[in-house]
Amino acid sequence: MTFTAHIGAGVIGAYLIDALIFHRPMTPETMGVAIGLSLLPDLDSVYVLTATKNWQFKDRNRHHRFFSHTPLFFLSLALLLTPFLNLRALTLFIGLTLLHLVLDSWATDDGIMWLWPFRERQYALVPIQERGPELFGMTYYRQRYFRQWYVALAELLLLLGGLLVGVQVVG
Ligand SMILES: [Zn+2]
Repeated sequence: MTFTAHIGAGVIGAYLIDALIFHRPMTPETMGVAIGLSLLPDLDSVYVLTATKNWQFKDRNRHHRFFSHTPLFFLSLALLLTPFLNLRALTLFIGLTLLHLVLDSWATDDGIMWLWPFRERQYALVPIQERGPELFGMTYYRQRYFRQWYVALAELLLLLGGLLVGVQVVG
């Protein structure tokens, strides 16, 4: 997924958590938190791209193979945060970081390590065409990723859904 789809999904996810579990309307502050949490797992890109000297995307961004892109990492982090967060904040943290990981497993050619540290295999729910030797970064997205209609449709729906929630919350 692209970062815009991650943001859209995070905003929709937070809206649904508030509406269905905590029976309260979403606030602009929650929307800001949702955007941050929806992108939080990708912070490891900064480390991985620096460590692999891959800022120009001459190779695949290998952060999906990093321990910080696993459910166990975020569940452990949630456990450490438990004394400092209320139930709603904890639910948003777990819900939105795991939603990010689900989206990283959807329509991807690598997926994430759902069973780490027991297995290092990466699982993809809807595997798509693999990146080729010359196909990384934006070239891959232009020539492969968006050419698959179900991927492009999901991206569009998440972006529009996030915008719709955003307009309702801020407007
Ligand atoms: Zn990610």
